[in-house]
Amino acid sequence: MGGGMSSRPAVREGQLPGGSVQRGEVLVPSRLSDPVHGTIDCGAATLVAGSLRRRGHQVSIEPVESWTDAPANGGEPALFLATCQGGDGKVSAIAAAAAPGDGLAAAAARAAVQEWTTALDPRTVVVAGSPWCQGALRALDLAGRAVRDSAGLGSVVHVLGDMAGPADARAGLAEQGAVFGSSVAEMVRGDVVVFPAYGVTPQLRAEARERGLAVVDATCPLVASAQREAGRLAERGDHVVVIGQPDHAATPGIMGSAGGRATIVGTAGGTAALGMPGASRVSYLLQPGEPTEAAAAVAAALRSRFPATRGPNPDSFCYAASDRAGTIKMVAASCDLMLVLGSQDSADARQLSGLARDCGARAQIIADVGDITPALLTGIGVLGVAESTTARPGLTELVIEALSGLGQLSIVRRQVSSDVTSRPDLEHTTPAQHGAMPVGAD
Ligand code: SF4
Repeated sequence: MGGGMSSRPAVREGQLPGGSVQRGEVLVPSRLSDPVHGTIDCGAATLVAGSLRRRGHQVSIEPVESWTDAPANGGEPALFLATCQGGDGKVSAIAAAAAPGDGLAAAAARAAVQEWTTALDPRTVVVAGSPWCQGALRALDLAGRAVRDSAGLGSVVHVLGDMAGPADARAGLAEQGAVFGSSVAEMVRGDVVVFPAYGVTPQLRAEARERGLAVVDATCPLVASAQREAGRLAERGDHVVVIGQPDHAATPGIMGSAGGRATIVGTAGGTAALGMPGASRVSYLLQPGEPTEAAAAVAAALRSRFPATRGPNPDSFCYAASDRAGTIKMVAASCDLMLVLGSQDSADARQLSGLARDCGARAQIIADVGDITPALLTGIGVLGVAESTTARPGLTELVIEALSGLGQLSIVRRQVSSDVTSRPDLEHTTPAQHGAMPVGAD
């Protein structure tokens, strides 16, 4: 899958007549314009700047309005550039400039441009779909509406618990006045409380009512359905086994809905210790937000111990985690290197990297465009890009923009999306929202 460019363009020297570059700083043009050459995009500017910053140089990224091909004569800033042709025939440049007489900055500018010419290759980027599931996005949307509807009415909008979603959307809620909290005890009559996508316990729901709070219930319909089902099964005398993780945010709400007639089991081995005191039947549920595949072995072990165990219909499952894992595997299987966007210490980013490696791809977590090095891209013809839940907003598009400055670039977007047609309560979501999720995050 590796790409390759037989000859690298030479680094040319030019100048910026009338231009200004601070001594001790390298100016990286975001574009080069002038009447003779027209406008040349420098999409890779953030990559060049990243190399320079890693070496300790001061860098500014700015558009350059006037430049010439003639080498600098000592009176004007020196420009170093290499050009290449993109797939659309447009020329783009890798460029950097230094102040007149600033030999150190000039050497650094030339070296950075030279270094990035080694990464000029035709390339394909395969982008994995968003990490956010429809339930999380729906909850953010409902919280946003609650904040807007309450504006000017004097009531405080509290967002209960941890609301999953893009960092900028959550920050936007806080900027508009939403208060993120974990206890209804801090809220007063007339306040608005937004329940999170992963739901709340029946006790907490009752407490909110007793305190006179206005409830905006953003519980994901799939979580609400699991809660209802747990309650229905327990009421008819079943013991409910929830296949999932005890520390999952949705667990208290689902277990609480079964009124004490439920047990949570995360592994096939965990079924051995199950006792069912006084239960006429055993039924199991899948915890929404968990990959459905992970439940199969537990369900089989449960059936071998309790042959009459009843399970849910697959049309009630949340496929978000499975779809996301499937998306990552599909992208990883088609690429040489997977860039996982997010922070190094993020469990989600590490999980995505592990999935990619299991599929035979190399994987690298990057927090920003400037973390991409020419060495990382050497020999990489197909590059996977996947956002973790800690990726900063818009990073995927910034990575694509940067790579588009390194020669011909084609972009493929992949998304596994399970569709359950008999769920009218979820049909209002858009295809882009459907089926993606932070693995295990609700
Ligand atoms: S992971 Fe599934 S159940 Fe949980 S909020 Fe997202 S769509 Fe709903």
